[in-house]
Amino acid sequence: MIEVKNLTKSYGATIAVNNVSFSAQAGEIVGFIGPNGAGKSTTMRVITCYLPADEGTVTVDGYDVFEESIEARKRIGYLPESTPLYTDMGVVDYLKFVAQIRGVAGHTRNERIKDVIDICSLEPMMHKNIGELSKGYRQRVGLAQALIHDPPVLILDEPTAGLDPYQIIEIRNLIKEIGRQKTIIFSTHILSQVAATCDRTLIISNGKIVANDSPQELALSTMDQQVTQIGIIGPHEEIQTKLEHLDFVLDFKKLDSETEYSCYHITSHKDHQTAPELAKFVSQNNWELTELYKTAIDLENVFLKLTQSESQRTGELG
Ligand code: ADP
Repeated sequence: MIEVKNLTKSYGATIAVNNVSFSAQAGEIVGFIGPNGAGKSTTMRVITCYLPADEGTVTVDGYDVFEESIEARKRIGYLPESTPLYTDMGVVDYLKFVAQIRGVAGHTRNERIKDVIDICSLEPMMHKNIGELSKGYRQRVGLAQALIHDPPVLILDEPTAGLDPYQIIEIRNLIKEIGRQKTIIFSTHILSQVAATCDRTLIISNGKIVANDSPQELALSTMDQQVTQIGIIGPHEEIQTKLEHLDFVLDFKKLDSETEYSCYHITSHKDHQTAPELAKFVSQNNWELTELYKTAIDLENVFLKLTQSESQRTGELG
């Protein structure tokens, strides 16, 4: 659905995007992450026909964004970093206006507006002026305008920036829901959001793609260690002494303890069958196992590892 090949874009002497290639399939949600200044917005602006590339090609649903820009634009819904809203317009009037300039046919316009109001849960605010809305609702109006012409592709530049945790979860769920039918590329600095929402993660650093895989695969291929959580009922000191002597345990950290119970994070090599061995370890010692599982993907460490040279260079992480 989206094919980016050898894309390069500079601003004067600054190479913002340097020979970037990737693709996104129909129905795929791609999370685009990278430190500030890495080239995310520039890439998105080229895909959405807001900026011409210096080199390379981009196609959307088979249409070249340079050669067949109008056809490509018809298939894209775009939510830029600063949501372009007219604060003195009413929500419905604004959506009518966008529908008109997006070429939504007159007889289907009201129905489309009703649909996007429904998808973005804007009913309670539909009779208000945009200027009266909270940041979360404004962001929903931004999403509604991106969806109004029912495009197969959505490009969302930091759609959750500046939102509170409830609003972030709402927008994240909305992206997941919409993503069932569309191809979505969205940028964010919230890495847990990527792990929870995306089929694939693109990491860009200093204008270059440094990773392109599912969050799970990325964590596996980048990190050579895994962390397993275990809860045990047994004598704390003896457990810790014996954990120290297990040769597959590279490190362990006590998370919690009560009179009889204690809980640990065990670090081992990523290829080691840690859980079964820990289960055996507990039963051989006649202790009781209360929990045992591999901890969630630690995308933050993956991100830091892959973009470290960039962050050291700029002294800033996004
Ligand atoms: P990101 O979205 O990852 O923060 P950007 O694509 O905005 O990154 O920026 C990539 C690089 O291009 C940065 O070095 C930034 O300073 C530079 N840049 C972005 N927009 C402009 C512009 N309009 N003029 C000059 N330089 C720009």
